Amino acid sequence: MLALGEEGVIEHIKTIGLYRNKAKNVIALCRILIDEFGSEVPKTREELMRLPGVGRKTANVVMSMAFGIPTMAVDTHVFRIANRMLMAPGKTPDEVEDNILRVIPDQYLYHAHHWLILHGRYCCKARKPECERCVVADICRSPEKTFDIPAPLVELPQQIVGIPAPAP
Ligand code: SF4
Repeated sequence: MLALGEEGVIEHIKTIGLYRNKAKNVIALCRILIDEFGSEVPKTREELMRLPGVGRKTANVVMSMAFGIPTMAVDTHVFRIANRMLMAPGKTPDEVEDNILRVIPDQYLYHAHHWLILHGRYCCKARKPECERCVVADICRSPEKTFDIPAPLVELPQQIVGIPAPAP
């Protein structure tokens, strides 16, 4: 990664927002990983948050996804749903994070992160929640909800985990 340099990284990520800043952070972060962490990604939140571009949310994602440490990264969807459903209300992402950790048992946190994000992105949308399509409409306590019969669960298409091998 370091050999690519900032311009090289930009070539690979220029379709995403804030790519210049992200490339700069990635290069600085690689340097610190090598110089201060023996080329290993650290496991603690405090250490992760010392890396350029890494805030609490990103640190929590790495801790949970890479190391299986029970925690919850609160993004815009998780924040909205936790408040809207009155599941773990809070005024700040940190407050929501604390409250989620109180109500979701550790063994579910890893997947709950994705469930909440996807639910927020595709069903309990910011502008107008689609309550008729909601599988948790019966237990949702939101004053905004417009329907309280849960939608039937549907089988998901087969999920591909990891990067598919290239065709021969
Ligand atoms: S019932 Fe409506 S408001 Fe409640 S979680 Fe489902 S989509 Fe969101």
